[in-house]
Amino acid sequence: MDTSPSLSSASALPLKVSVWRGRADGEFSHYEVPRQASQTVLDVISYIQKHLEPSLGYRFACRVGMCGSCAMTVNGKARWTCRTHVAKVVDAQGGIEVAPLANLPLVKDLVTDMTVFFDKWAAAKGQFQGDRTRHDDFAQVAPASAERVAANAGIECIGCAVCYASCDVVGWRPDYLGPAAMNRAWTLVNDVRDVQQRERLRAVAGDAGCHACHTQGSCTENCPKHLSPTLSIAGLKRAVGRAAVRGQL
Ligand code: SF4
Repeated sequence: MDTSPSLSSASALPLKVSVWRGRADGEFSHYEVPRQASQTVLDVISYIQKHLEPSLGYRFACRVGMCGSCAMTVNGKARWTCRTHVAKVVDAQGGIEVAPLANLPLVKDLVTDMTVFFDKWAAAKGQFQGDRTRHDDFAQVAPASAERVAANAGIECIGCAVCYASCDVVGWRPDYLGPAAMNRAWTLVNDVRDVQQRERLRAVAGDAGCHACHTQGSCTENCPKHLSPTLSIAGLKRAVGRAAVRGQL
């Protein structure tokens, strides 16, 4: 007996898919894709590339929500496509629209250039810098300490850039470090093993840093890992303020 989930008669109709083709001056192309139970948006894009449009450019790797490489704009909202079921986003006319992420340079079709996104992680001092050598014992951090708890809250970031593409401030001023870079900085501010805290706070205290955030919360609303860059940035604002008062910046 077939126990696979069945599609309703309406959803058995082909899915109408509009996909961005070309560069910034490109346009949407339109395709029809067979519906399947539990189909994801990434399944749909992969079907189009495999059967209808071999030259379609898009990016993915793990397909299980770990690598963060398959984010796209689906019906106007940034999403991780490998974990977005078509049934949750299909519109009343039986269609979806898939475009590249906003706020990033477009390479081709659905592929954006992530260079500036990760350069901002580096600019926010998003690299761990310890002072132990291989000859030292392991550093021990108490799991229940306030710093460890605060770092844990932001540590599961997969670098998908959904928050970055959803941020109006990034759209207004391209030099703004953005939510993901500052979420990363906040996890390191709370890492008691790290030794470049002053440099990190200086890096995020600038005009394009944490104080440029308008606390609109789009990053937190759309983060597929349910992180809150908004809270992380608020933490950075407090830490920068304390350091400034103490003359440590
Ligand atoms: Fe993606 Fe969330 Fe990390 Fe932003 S904070 S890059 S939305 S996982």
